[in-house]
Amino acid sequence: MKKVGYGKDHCNACEREAVVEKWRWFTWFHFFWIPLIPLGFHHNWVCTLCLKDANARYTSGIVIKIFLLLVIFSVTALLFQPNATDGIEYGWIMKTLAALMFLGSTFWVMMHKKQPSKSTLRASITPIDTRTCLSCGEPLTSNPKLLCVPCKLEVYKKID
Ligand SMILES: [Zn+2]
Ligand SMILES: [Zn+2]
Repeated sequence: MKKVGYGKDHCNACEREAVVEKWRWFTWFHFFWIPLIPLGFHHNWVCTLCLKDANARYTSGIVIKIFLLLVIFSVTALLFQPNATDGIEYGWIMKTLAALMFLGSTFWVMMHKKQPSKSTLRASITPIDTRTCLSCGEPLTSNPKLLCVPCKLEVYKKID
């Protein structure tokens, strides 16, 4: 893994504006630990504030939430059938827990907020310093890409 550049972006993990670093690595298709076929370069943008992948998904969508709510509702409904917990010593604990989980997940679904799209979030990012390097403070060169020559880093004005 090699750091090849940096820029500014909205981080999906810590949900704030952050400097993100582009890390690149070369991957091979392995056959019994022998690299056989070169698959090419891959890259990730890593947030410098939380050190997580700034573009990964961290929140679950409303569809997943409603599905989980339905599963929990079914379990709760089954437990509350007459005689369902007869013979189970701690049946009332199971019922209480199921009811609490049902209430909790209902609340969780109701509190669901739609995330603004990544492009909307990116539109409000303050621009990155295009004159000096964030790591070493040396002036950047543009030829035509914006680069810090001593750090061997590309500076991205926009990330997409
Ligand atoms: Zn972050
Ligand atoms: Zn530098």
